[in-house]
Amino acid sequence: MDLITSLLWHHDKFLGITWNTWKVVGFIGNAVFFSRFFVQWYATEKRKQVVVPQAFWWLSLTGSLILLAYGLFYLHDSVFILAYAFTWIPYIRSLVIHRRHKAAHTICTGCGIKIPPQSNYCPNCGVKVG
Ligand SMILES: [Zn+2]
Repeated sequence: MDLITSLLWHHDKFLGITWNTWKVVGFIGNAVFFSRFFVQWYATEKRKQVVVPQAFWWLSLTGSLILLAYGLFYLHDSVFILAYAFTWIPYIRSLVIHRRHKAAHTICTGCGIKIPPQSNYCPNCGVKVG
């Protein structure tokens, strides 16, 4: 074996990790959960204000459920299981609020754009709403 291969593979471990299907599931859960920070950061930088996009909540929900499965079916660790057992509640609640907020938008009679709820005037053309 060459030097690089022997550094990567050592005592039947790749990168010092004993791999199995649940290890892969756990790392995927971590990657999905961690990726939400980049999504939120990107949205915030793009808008130049703190924004929590809907994708953040979907990634939070998906990542935490994968990690909960990892904890329940592989790790069997009560601390880990408890850390992810109830996090889905605020994630789903935030998704419901996002959906309701989107549905509450109205269409401007002046220019046809979607107007945020509780707006008195169209931010695009200035037509009075409601
Ligand atoms: Zn308008």
